[in-house]
Amino acid sequence: MTVYLVGAGPGDPGLITVRGLDLVRRADVLVLDRLAGDQLPLEAKPGCLLINAGKAPGKVAMTQEETNACLVEHGLTGAMVVRLKGGDPFVFGRGSEEAEALHAAGVDYEVVPGISSSIAAPSAGGIPVTHRGMATHLTIVTGHEDPTKPDTQTDWDALAKAGGTLVLLMGVGRLGKISDALIAGGRSAETPVGIVERGTLPTQRVTTGTLGTIAAIAAEQGVTSPAVTVVGDVVSVREAIGWADRLPLAGRVIAVTRARAQADGLTRRLTDLGAKVISAPTIRTVPLDVAPIDAGTFDLIVVTSPNTPALLLAAIGGDARALHGVEVAAIGPGTAAALREIGVVADVVSERAVAEALLETLQDRVAGKRVLIARAEEARDLLPDGLANAGATVEISALYRTEFAVP
Ligand code: SAH
Repeated sequence: MTVYLVGAGPGDPGLITVRGLDLVRRADVLVLDRLAGDQLPLEAKPGCLLINAGKAPGKVAMTQEETNACLVEHGLTGAMVVRLKGGDPFVFGRGSEEAEALHAAGVDYEVVPGISSSIAAPSAGGIPVTHRGMATHLTIVTGHEDPTKPDTQTDWDALAKAGGTLVLLMGVGRLGKISDALIAGGRSAETPVGIVERGTLPTQRVTTGTLGTIAAIAAEQGVTSPAVTVVGDVVSVREAIGWADRLPLAGRVIAVTRARAQADGLTRRLTDLGAKVISAPTIRTVPLDVAPIDAGTFDLIVVTSPNTPALLLAAIGGDARALHGVEVAAIGPGTAAALREIGVVADVVSERAVAEALLETLQDRVAGKRVLIARAEEARDLLPDGLANAGATVEISALYRTEFAVP
């Protein structure tokens, strides 16, 4: 088995690669870091071991050595280990040190690149890191080093003279010293500067100024990590671009509380409209062990939620042909769509997805019929009672239970 060093992208869970997400979904062990976001772990399969190397509850963050050792230890068990790292694993992410440790221990590993925040956070904030006529090169530099310390490895003078676009990762707290060093090295104090905090995340914020003013502005605005600072004329293009601000739900943060399996469509539509969506499922559905259903013994099967068709298909033996000759009723268009996914076109669909509406649609046509209601364990009695009153013989099959899910 292999340890996968996977770039999680800048924060928005939609910005991981297709391969990265596939690996997250298949992982036995998922090792997270602080910047890998809190949404991607929701994609892990049930039973996946989640290890937070950024910060375990009640503990301090693991040291790099502890993280390396943890990857080696789990890698050696043969489990499928995914190490999810913010941005790209090899851009100031210490992913290369983890790769070295795995290599030294003889553990196979693979690196899955990610979208680095160094480019994605500016771009999400409306700042292109290059623009024709303004920047012919881009330098990504760590702001971790104190420019006033004699042992600094960064040549701020040279960076100041080089011009172009300078992207600073980390070091929000050293912004004053870094801008002073750049100005001292010859970069104009008027150079535009933009800071993108929490780029691509629901609470993204952009703060702008110039090399001369940005440290004071950042302090006044309470700018905090994680943030990417862009120095260069490209920052001024933001006014003209500002693409994200023009969407109708721009600036809105919306929590979607639906069960995960059902939330995708809604999440996608909200995201398309510019909202930042936080997936916070408050319920989940748990399939129940059910006795096989002999579909042929019923005249009508009533399906009361989009969760049901897949479970119903399993209960009738996995072959939709068992429903041949049986009428099928769906509560609302969403359930009818879920039925189509198992190859069944509902004969009756109520307009609204509530029991009252379905009862009204069905009550005149069920007299003398054998009706099965396939539903959740804890549903209301309105539908079975109403159909029985209308002359049907009603049986209920509870296919799943709804539980509270703590996100
Ligand atoms: N490997 C990561 C960088 C890790 S260093 C990557 O490629 O993106 C950590 C720094 O990345 C933070 O201090 C901050 O400067 C930057 N960063 C990471 N995620 C960010 C985000 N969503 N918004 C702004 N900056 C971010």
